[in-house]
Amino acid sequence: MIVKNAKFVISIGKLNQLKDFGKDEIAFVGRSNVGKSSLINYLCNIKGLAKTGATPGKTRLINYFEINNQFYFVDLPGYGFAKGNKSEQMAWKSLIEGYLGATKRLKLVCLLIDIRRDLNDDDKQMINYLYYYNIPTIIIVTKADKIAKTKVKVEINRIARQAKLGVENILACSVNAKIGREDILNRIDQFIGGENE
Ligand code: GDP
Repeated sequence: MIVKNAKFVISIGKLNQLKDFGKDEIAFVGRSNVGKSSLINYLCNIKGLAKTGATPGKTRLINYFEINNQFYFVDLPGYGFAKGNKSEQMAWKSLIEGYLGATKRLKLVCLLIDIRRDLNDDDKQMINYLYYYNIPTIIIVTKADKIAKTKVKVEINRIARQAKLGVENILACSVNAKIGREDILNRIDQFIGGENE
């Protein structure tokens, strides 16, 4: 797939703002700082489209980006920014669960994991949600430039085991070293369109 154009459409912070925007959705989720905004900008080839290093308050939103006038990248709020803050965590949970439970157009969730990290409880809970809602899921392993090239396969195998997913569902990427863009876009392309078109 070639990204010909990408534009920001809307941010949603409340459950009652969620609606069917009429096009397929590909969502991105992961703990804060995993490299989600950088990845979206890299895939779209537009610096600053998604806000990198945004202050936590600004990241508690669901952001829609329209790609090729055809489908949306949906940037879900990162988790882990509100450690110890129960009401923040509840707000995050209700927005994510509300989105996953309501959307009819979600074709794929890309769950981001830093290549150097083990899955934490939030990652595992997210995988459980996705399984529960029966949503196709791939893992995008970020910041692959942070380890030796020869180690990438080993880390992918580890993350696949922890996530209980097949290795074919794990794609490595590095925004800094420009690795993985084509593979990820081609994989996403396989999920666009399909049964409810
Ligand atoms: P977000 O909170 O998940 O949206 O994460 P950001 O995209 O804001 O990135 C968090 C930090 O990780 C920033 O300092 C980025 O520059 C850095 N980062 C993102 N992608 C990569 C990558 O592929 N390699 C390296 N080395 N750093 C990255």
